[in-house]
Amino acid sequence: MQLYTKIAIALILGVVAGLAANILGLGWLTSALTAIEPAGSAWIRLITMVVVPLVVASLIVGTASLGDVTKLGRIGGKTIAYYLATTAIAVSIGLLLSNLVSPGSHMDPAVLESLRATYLAEGASRVEIAQRAPSLIEVLLEMIPRNPVQAMASGQMLPIIFFTIFFGAAISVLPEGRKGPLLGFFHGVNDAAMVMIHWIMKLAPYAVFALIGAVVARFGMDMLRSLLVYSLTVLAGLALHVFVTYPAALRFLGRVSPLPFFRRIRAAPLIAFSTSSSNATLPVTMEVAEEGVGISPEVSSFVLPLGATINMDGTALYQAVATMFIAQVLVGDISFAAQLGIVLTATLASIGAAGVPSAGIIILIVVLQQALPPGVDPAVGIALILGVDRILDMCRTAVNVTGDLTAATVIARSEGELLALDGEAAAKAA
Ligand code: ASP
Repeated sequence: MQLYTKIAIALILGVVAGLAANILGLGWLTSALTAIEPAGSAWIRLITMVVVPLVVASLIVGTASLGDVTKLGRIGGKTIAYYLATTAIAVSIGLLLSNLVSPGSHMDPAVLESLRATYLAEGASRVEIAQRAPSLIEVLLEMIPRNPVQAMASGQMLPIIFFTIFFGAAISVLPEGRKGPLLGFFHGVNDAAMVMIHWIMKLAPYAVFALIGAVVARFGMDMLRSLLVYSLTVLAGLALHVFVTYPAALRFLGRVSPLPFFRRIRAAPLIAFSTSSSNATLPVTMEVAEEGVGISPEVSSFVLPLGATINMDGTALYQAVATMFIAQVLVGDISFAAQLGIVLTATLASIGAAGVPSAGIIILIVVLQQALPPGVDPAVGIALILGVDRILDMCRTAVNVTGDLTAATVIARSEGELLALDGEAAAKAA
């Protein structure tokens, strides 16, 4: 049986077990699922463990083998432009749907009051965390690490990427005798990291079951019901983005058929869904890009780690819908000009969000502070949507990762690469 099939079965079994525990109120099953959850967390640690060595080694090898540093500038420019454009489209889809559906006007005042009462303290603590978050200028400054070893030790992705590209570019101009051993070493590290990923992925189905079962067992089904229109608006937006925007980009910019593409990458969104973390999924994302889609390491080693950190279409779309929903509930409708502001702030905020669970809701506070009139407490807004955040986090993370892989495919094609998918299309045509 293929690994993907095993992961999918594990996911379904996890959901079924979690639902049974939750809906039927089977306390023993909830306890059993909660007891095995640490096995899932252990797996997340295991795969996250590979991220830094993998990103550093593959980015050094990728940069140094580009041959020409200007090519890196070109790829970088295209990647960032593509990321910004697709994120802005995602936000616009979120705004459009929120205007059409107006999820905030379907809320029962009694339900709103109980959400506010239940989650206000937690909402306030999130606002406190957000206040401690660095500003965009600080994030940009901190991209240049004072000490690269420290950046690697604490897994700060942007500074790692910055240093590594600089280092890789320097290696590329060394004389052959010096360059060879260094590149040979990092090639070896990269290959060993890939072997580790293969091994770790063998355990993925068990981890997925352990993670999903516990989350679903604990999930507040009543919450889902009371925030149904809001949740469905987010999900519909995510679905539109994945099934309309990405296929259009793949077909017209990447010149690949969307269906085979989705088939080859499917393990990555599944892992993203199960872990709620683009960072933890990164090793899998890189593996399916190189081995499934056939993207060169030069492109994937740059586009994907950067994407896991700054390209979050799902998060941005969710932030747009959440802001509109909260505004509709707390202050009534929101002007067109303010909505244009949301396109800008949600795009920037999603760039600032880290690829870890629940990062999106913390950064959402920045968007709320800008969009809501003065005097409205963002903690109240957060309290309204906190109950369903975990499940939406899982879905938006799957979209974030799919967006990164779509980008890598489009960029690889724009650099004239032949992809593994082309072989498949040709075989079909023959
Ligand atoms: N969990 C998301 C990710 O890792 C970020 C978010 O909370 O939206 O991509």
